Amino acid sequence: MNKFDVVVIGSGLGGLSCGVMLSKEGLNVCLLEKNSTIGGCLQSFKRNGYTLDTGMHYVGSLSEGQIMHQYFKYFGVIDSLRLRKLDENGFDHFSFSDSKSYCHAMGYERFIDTLAQQFPKERAGLRSLCDVIRNVGSEISPQVLRQGRISNDGQAYMAMSAHEEICRHIGDERLRQVLAGNCGLFAGEKDATSLYEYAMITHSNIESAYTFVDGSQHLADAMADVIKSNGGTVRAGAKVEKIHLNGNEAEYVELAGGERIYAKYIISAIHPQLTFAMLENNTVYKKAFFTRVNSLRNTYGIFTTYLLLKPNMLKYTNRNYYLFNTDDVWCIEKDYKGMNVPSTLLCMQPNSDSEYTKVVTLLTPMPLSHCEPWAATSVGQRGEEYKAFKEQLSEHVIDFVSQHFPQLRSCIDKVYTASPLTYRDYTATPQGSAYGLIKDYHNPMITHLPARTRISNLLISGQNLNIHGCIGTAVSAAVTCSVILGSEYLAKKIGEA
Ligand SMILES: Cc1cc2nc3c(=O)[nH]c(=O)nc-3n(C[C@H](O)[C@H](O)[C@H](O)COP(=O)(O)OP(=O)(O)OC[C@H]3O[C@@H](n4cnc5c(N)ncnc54)[C@H](O)[C@@H]3O)c2cc1C
Repeated sequence: MNKFDVVVIGSGLGGLSCGVMLSKEGLNVCLLEKNSTIGGCLQSFKRNGYTLDTGMHYVGSLSEGQIMHQYFKYFGVIDSLRLRKLDENGFDHFSFSDSKSYCHAMGYERFIDTLAQQFPKERAGLRSLCDVIRNVGSEISPQVLRQGRISNDGQAYMAMSAHEEICRHIGDERLRQVLAGNCGLFAGEKDATSLYEYAMITHSNIESAYTFVDGSQHLADAMADVIKSNGGTVRAGAKVEKIHLNGNEAEYVELAGGERIYAKYIISAIHPQLTFAMLENNTVYKKAFFTRVNSLRNTYGIFTTYLLLKPNMLKYTNRNYYLFNTDDVWCIEKDYKGMNVPSTLLCMQPNSDSEYTKVVTLLTPMPLSHCEPWAATSVGQRGEEYKAFKEQLSEHVIDFVSQHFPQLRSCIDKVYTASPLTYRDYTATPQGSAYGLIKDYHNPMITHLPARTRISNLLISGQNLNIHGCIGTAVSAAVTCSVILGSEYLAKKIGEA
């Protein structure tokens, strides 16, 4: 019989991290992925010979001794990663419509000094805000792991507003905007984003920010190799359609086509709204539970414009550019129908073989509602109007970005685009949401889901649990696996690797 210790649903970073941890600790793991290639948002794909990334453009805390480095070291993949450290003097640049620009530098002292040069009266506020950010980030440090905890109790920060905390320390309105300028990284909402989420992500990048060389697929592949070398199974093209329950236990998962795979534990590292919709023979959850889960709000999606560049035209610059067409970085409610993009994050892709970049990725926030006319369609069958919509929008995005990079247009060979519909159909995330559920500081207990479910051997993981992104998803996986392996045991194993 097809029977494993653990079946993991979904091969994004969340599923892969669970698969690596459990297989390293001797469990017989089977990882199931619906797509033909593993990786979820880590996936890189080829167009016209160019490598394009789905959703992992830069990652924080990857220097030795920092948390993400520690996780990847324990996973056994750190030495196979091809990484480039971004510019320490300014890894993120922020430009506003008045042509003024600012940057976030690496290391707390440099971060404060760089911004204090432009906002000298705010030096003390910058320092006190940075103390808070560092305290939050330290909740998941390697030292905490070595003490036998995956995370300290960050719940108080989950119930605090990021925006209000910034305002509490900083008086200058432009500096407030600059400090929240990375909010595209967490689909920030002024009236929802928690201090926890903002500070975790900001802290990790201030510690150190890196980008993947030649795309992020090699991380997914390295993790899958670890699972296989530990005796585990990784199956692509294996869509789970049902989780069959027997009383309050999950008995097996059923794939499209009817194959059943039995396991002692099932970990679902896909969106919780999908997980709970797959329960078959459910006598555990009442209708009100499904209504509540389905009513949780998701973050907005991203309209991605990939610029495939002519050879040796644009020199790679080692930083990201956040370009704003608005004075309020938290606000993305611009008129998309009028093609008036609110902001765009520009990331250049480094190559191992050239000082020039071959691919520039432009990430523009976009709620799925702007793709509403095509909501019922699937990939490749959305029709000419959809194509025209995407083409027109990408032209506007390129026009907007060209105000800051006048030379860009002449470098372009080809343009590819992905809308929130693309992400919806590719990763199956409801509404093509970029980062899954919104963790709202007004309701931290409801919007931060626990790893355990009321089904004794069904656990959830992935970006919807703790926070999203590379670090959030890896930490969520540790929280989930600690239910099986024991929290103190696993934390020390990761921390002492
Ligand atoms: C455009 C974009 C840019 C981003 N940029 C960054 C960044 O620069 N840095 C950063 O840290 N984070 C970034 N993120 C966020 C980060 O990519 C995610 O938070 C993280 O990768 C999510 O991992 P996951 O495993 O939870 O989900 P996913 O990566 O979505 O993986 C879920 C997997 O489950 C599979 N699946 C779904 N349903 C089924 C089923 N029924 N059966 C089997 N398999 C199924 C999907 O196909 C998918 O492979 C970005 C995200 C997006 C969308």
